[in-house]
Amino acid sequence: ESKGNGKNQYHLYLPSMNERTFEWLVLENDLHKALEKGEFFIEYQPRIDMKNEQVAGAEALIRWQHPTYNRVNPANFIPLAEETGLIIPIGKWVLETACRQLKSWHEAGFTNLKISVNFSARQFLSENLIKDVAAVISDSKISPQHLEIEITESTLLQNELVVLAALRELMEMGVQITLDDFGTGYASLTYLTKYQVNALKIDKSFIKDISKNPEKDAITTAVITLAHSLNMQVVAEGVEYYEDYEHLLSKNTDEIQGYFISRPISPEKFLMALKKGTFTKCFKKHS
Ligand code: C2E
Ligand code: MG
Ligand code: MG
Ligand code: MG
Repeated sequence: ESKGNGKNQYHLYLPSMNERTFEWLVLENDLHKALEKGEFFIEYQPRIDMKNEQVAGAEALIRWQHPTYNRVNPANFIPLAEETGLIIPIGKWVLETACRQLKSWHEAGFTNLKISVNFSARQFLSENLIKDVAAVISDSKISPQHLEIEITESTLLQNELVVLAALRELMEMGVQITLDDFGTGYASLTYLTKYQVNALKIDKSFIKDISKNPEKDAITTAVITLAHSLNMQVVAEGVEYYEDYEHLLSKNTDEIQGYFISRPISPEKFLMALKKGTFTKCFKKHS
């Protein structure tokens, strides 16, 4: 993915990971050192509660400032991190950093915010997962209800029993679980009754231009009805346009996230925007 607007550019164009090219070997080698060299950082993207049009929380999205490639897109290094097992320490670092960040926003007075962290399937194979999550929650002094873990449908399909057991334990701790990219995976609907996650996050491919696309509208409307009847919340990601926001509002979407509100940004900018009310300025015209 190449993003055309200056600062957010990714300068790395990699061949598919199946081709074991020199670039991949270099990148894998660099990935091993990136954590201790402090090359990872996190950007945060706000999530808006549609009921009160307030900031409900933030999604933590990892970035890698590579010494020569500049910014490497997570789509390019997360698969490598998963394959090498490095996702375990990297994922732990993201969780710790994001929870500490959330605590500092709480201390700045934004006490209702929650934090969403993406977890890979591989992280569920770590024997220490539950212990690690519990330790991070207690060390950062946040309440478990303020932590949301986003997993994809494919995570449910891999090592089903292990994942199911871990999800149950996390939910018993009070941690929220959301199914990310919902609609793009291969999980059957019976999984929804088996897992009883807290929320479904409808994939951005169904959201962009939803106001102009009857097929996307039909799918999204059905998912919202399904989710609500199973007592799950619905989040729409990839909301880019006012028309799509308005459309999703009329369909009782619980929360939205997307460029319409803000791109992912640094924690400093995030706090500034919270203080200035920047994220919710776009709603003022009709409220
Ligand atoms: P995701 O969890 O589905 O995150 C949403 C992605 O959509 C992010 O891409 C975000 O920047 C982008 N996005 C947000 N709003 C919009 C919008 O309005 N339009 C469009 N077109 N895109 C939007 P990003 O940051 O490149 O992350 C890509 C994926 O990398 C994430 O997808 C997630 O699966 C993975 N990822 C990111 N951080 C982590 C992490 O800490 N751990 C793990 N395991 N995976 C991560
Ligand atoms: Mg996500
Ligand atoms: Mg997603
Ligand atoms: Mg995704």
